[in-house]
Amino acid sequence: MRVALFGGTFDPPHRGHVGIAKAAADALRLDKVLFAPVGRQPLKTRTTATAFADRLAMVNLVCSVDTRFEASDIDMPRADGAPNYTVHTLAALREAMPDAALFNLVGADSFLELPRWHQPERLLELAEWIVVSRPGSPLGGLTSLGLTPRQLARVHLLETVHEDVAATELRERLHRGDPCADLLPPAVAEYITTHQLYT
Ligand code: ATP
Repeated sequence: MRVALFGGTFDPPHRGHVGIAKAAADALRLDKVLFAPVGRQPLKTRTTATAFADRLAMVNLVCSVDTRFEASDIDMPRADGAPNYTVHTLAALREAMPDAALFNLVGADSFLELPRWHQPERLLELAEWIVVSRPGSPLGGLTSLGLTPRQLARVHLLETVHEDVAATELRERLHRGDPCADLLPPAVAEYITTHQLYT
């Protein structure tokens, strides 16, 4: 079984998320991509994130577009309010699926921040990484991370994706009353309207 963790704020999940998950599943022959909204992202200071329940519900809707996609609450908010660290999530997945080939799926912008993540070396040991190109974050910048050849061998670069969409910009457009139909899966757009999110 080949399984990728795909963590993120997903506030809201958009066409870019679907695009990179499909590209990764095809290229790495993944059986499962686990879309896991994060309770509290350690590196993001914005405190007004949409409720976890709404983000999980929207991710659930997105996952219906591909049988390889599955929504997961593994990164739900912690009872003590502490941030969710990917290193703990991957360790939990490894324990739950000892025989699986485990991957961590991220966009290039996230991977460039790896030195700021909790326990970066352990993160690269716990899973192979799939790093997808993102407009504005050239994969060439990855050389600045100074990874060892052994670490680099565990990183798969996917340079064929060019999804120019970001949730921050989407939230601003939604707030201005633009339905963003071109950037959102239809079911997510409908959920946002019904629940009056980002108004
Ligand atoms: P925000 O603008 O609020 O920071 P975001 O659009 O970056 O949000 P996240 O939910 O934080 O979305 O992203 C989850 C993961 O998906 C991250 O690893 C991010 O790099 C990646 N990602 C999101 N959008 C894209 C995109 N358009 N192209 C490539 N990777 C992306």
